[in-house]
Amino acid sequence: LLEVEKLAVAFRGKRVVEDVSFTVERGETVALVGESGSGKSVTALSCLRLLPGAGGNPAGRILLDGTEVLTAPDADLRRLRGGVAGMVFQEPMTSLNPLHTVERQVSEAITLHQPLAGAALRARVVELLRRAGFPKAEDRLGAYPHQLSGGQRQRVMIAAALANDPKLLIADEPTTALDVTIQAQILELLERLKRELGMALLLITHDLNIVRKHADRVVVMKDGHAVEQGRVADVFAAPSHDYTRMLLTTEP
Ligand code: ATP
Ligand code: MG
Repeated sequence: LLEVEKLAVAFRGKRVVEDVSFTVERGETVALVGESGSGKSVTALSCLRLLPGAGGNPAGRILLDGTEVLTAPDADLRRLRGGVAGMVFQEPMTSLNPLHTVERQVSEAITLHQPLAGAALRARVVELLRRAGFPKAEDRLGAYPHQLSGGQRQRVMIAAALANDPKLLIADEPTTALDVTIQAQILELLERLKRELGMALLLITHDLNIVRKHADRVVVMKDGHAVEQGRVADVFAAPSHDYTRMLLTTEP
């Protein structure tokens, strides 16, 4: 589904990602772990060509559902973003528009790809919010982001990311900003959505317990390199790289 091959990204001549290769197959969860600054977010954003500004000029190859992302024409890119892969971030407050209601945020994600309007659009918004864990979705349509809890904001982000039935969800530290019980609820939600929708998940986290519990395979990043990868059970039982061993022994 996603094939990243020899990805390299440099900002102002400084390489922050180098020679990173990994794949995500249909329906599986791949975790991307590594310390702060190791290039996890840059790698994730590159998969949808979402790097800001000059964009770090990513080199290498990224195939998403058969389309080369780095050279795709804008029309293809629009289809890939949201239509093939949805993305959620650590702090939904920065990704949601503070001036837009929940209904508007989710509606806009839908109408980017589907010509829905009026009652049909509203029904789809409600369906997505229910799926993301708002049982009384109708009551929350008019809420603004600041009127929601952190966990609820993340659920709105997830509803928007699911608007076009993506085959892959890229989640960049989706639970880092949340307290432990809410973290578990959001991860359970992602797990359920994967099962129900047959979706694959690229999960960025620095929590090895989350990796152990939720991922099939893991890619360990350090200083912009993917220093080790494999099935979670194998890597955790017999890490081959010093850095992975260090991560596993210093784990809380
Ligand atoms: P964290 O765990 O803190 O989220 P990360 O692994 O996601 O870290 P990245 O955000 O991918 O790390 O950053 C990797 C490196 O690239 C860092 O040194 C960062 O300062 C740099 N970097 C990221 N985005 C940009 C940008 N838009 N312009 C310049 N440098 C950037
Ligand atoms: Mg990051």
